[in-house]
Amino acid sequence: MVTTCNKCKAQAIIFQRYSGMHLCEKHFAEDVERKVKRTMRKYSMVKKNDRIAVAVSGGKDSTVLLYLLNEI
Ligand SMILES: [Zn+2]
Repeated sequence: MVTTCNKCKAQAIIFQRYSGMHLCEKHFAEDVERKVKRTMRKYSMVKKNDRIAVAVSGGKDSTVLLYLLNEI
């Protein structure tokens, strides 16, 4: 059974239990990026001209963090 994304008609890759949403790869990535940005703003985690170091273990969490900080 193929489940489709709740935001488009693409194949869902994840079900978010807390939101009840099935999301495709694109919409899942957008959701994660939006939450990271919201959290960074909420806690004023980065200020203009800050230098940021990311300790990368090679696992998914630090790898995604490095990728998103670079994108943002
Ligand atoms: Zn989608």
